[in-house]
Amino acid sequence: RADRASAKQGAMWDTLGQLALEVQPIDLGIGCPDFAASEALRQDFRDVVEDQDFTLHQYTKGFGHPRLCQALSALYSGLLGRARVDPETQIVITNGASEGLFVSLMGLVNPGDEVIIIEPFFDCYLPQIELAGGTAVCVPLRPGKSEHSSDWRLDEAELRAAFTCNTKVMIVNTPHNPTGKVFSRCELEMISSLCRQHNVIAISDEVYEWLTYDGVEHVRMASLPGMWERCITIGSAGKIFSVTGWKLGWMIAPAHLLNGPKLVHQNSGYICCTPTQEALARAFERETALLSKNSPNCYFLSLAREAEAKRDILVFLLREAGLKPIVPQGGYFVMADVRDIMNKIDVGGDPSEPKDFRFVKWLTKNRKLQAIPPSGFYSPKHQFIGENYIRLCFLKEDSTLSKAGEILRALG
Ligand code: PMP
Ligand code: GLN
Repeated sequence: RADRASAKQGAMWDTLGQLALEVQPIDLGIGCPDFAASEALRQDFRDVVEDQDFTLHQYTKGFGHPRLCQALSALYSGLLGRARVDPETQIVITNGASEGLFVSLMGLVNPGDEVIIIEPFFDCYLPQIELAGGTAVCVPLRPGKSEHSSDWRLDEAELRAAFTCNTKVMIVNTPHNPTGKVFSRCELEMISSLCRQHNVIAISDEVYEWLTYDGVEHVRMASLPGMWERCITIGSAGKIFSVTGWKLGWMIAPAHLLNGPKLVHQNSGYICCTPTQEALARAFERETALLSKNSPNCYFLSLAREAEAKRDILVFLLREAGLKPIVPQGGYFVMADVRDIMNKIDVGGDPSEPKDFRFVKWLTKNRKLQAIPPSGFYSPKHQFIGENYIRLCFLKEDSTLSKAGEILRALG
């Protein structure tokens, strides 16, 4: 094993995934829906499979299937405040948002560079920064007094102090995994002004961009004044269309920021699956047309409506079970404070592991309900902040949510 590849990287998903295979729990763990994608999207896929055009099943252009890049340009140019995002030079298709994040960091970060990340963070940020030879500088969201994710805030002075002459990149994730926080325009302006002052590149992970609730607006970092030039926006088809297994994502940025990431992509995965890119292009063309008419049938809008109702169901069930959910305004996870219940149960396990990790394993094995331990989304120094919570995914059938509710109620 190379020194840079540690056995711990990503181990949480593997351990919990293996446990889920053995136990077959009600699974509110890993973030993916347990229902079918829309009929229209499945028809797009069938049409591509049946298409007589053989080129749809061969290698396409390395940096992205042209029809998909054009469809993304048509959708995102306006949303990012650009006259035209150039589909050839300003968009790169990747194997999921995960690869977009990885090649961005590998293509931009030199050994010794610092990368600021906000805790809790989607867990792969940390190993990806380390694989690139960078140093992660973690700034935690401080839990607020209210039960709302918007109340988890950055301390401005703490964030300001994290910027040094070695800071190269800051990663921002809004809507946020795992808290469901949607960063306000004011918060993003504060972050972006620090990035501009210190000449730092922003990687804006916006995979849950369409999933915001209570009328809250998703603000795109690249659309803020002076940010297009220094921002890579990362998106995910898996999250947008409820097909996480398609593993297609993208980076959108000015060409000069994509040179390094493109080189890494070109010399690793190089080309993403052509037929899924073609099906996705057709889907984006249809949904963008529906969106421009503000049609309620647009999948981006209908999924958000459905997800908001599911959020409300899970929040209700958690409260009914005596737990304290942090009500998310975006994304598809709820964090719930479980310290009262956790303290009543002898969950066993290795005491050197964080409490939430031991609790989650106990819950899967003994009550057949899987959740995710938020401490896995913190650096070791700040794990204690996440240890009193569990993360639950609510983009599930209502029947799955109510079964989970029954299990949680019985714990009380
Ligand atoms: N960023 C965040 C915040 C995520 O939650 C995820 C998980 N899906 C990803 C990136 C990776 O997305 P993908 O499945 O498209 O690789
Ligand atoms: N992002 C998803 C989650 O947080 C899927 C996990 C992953 O990609 N490793 O559950």
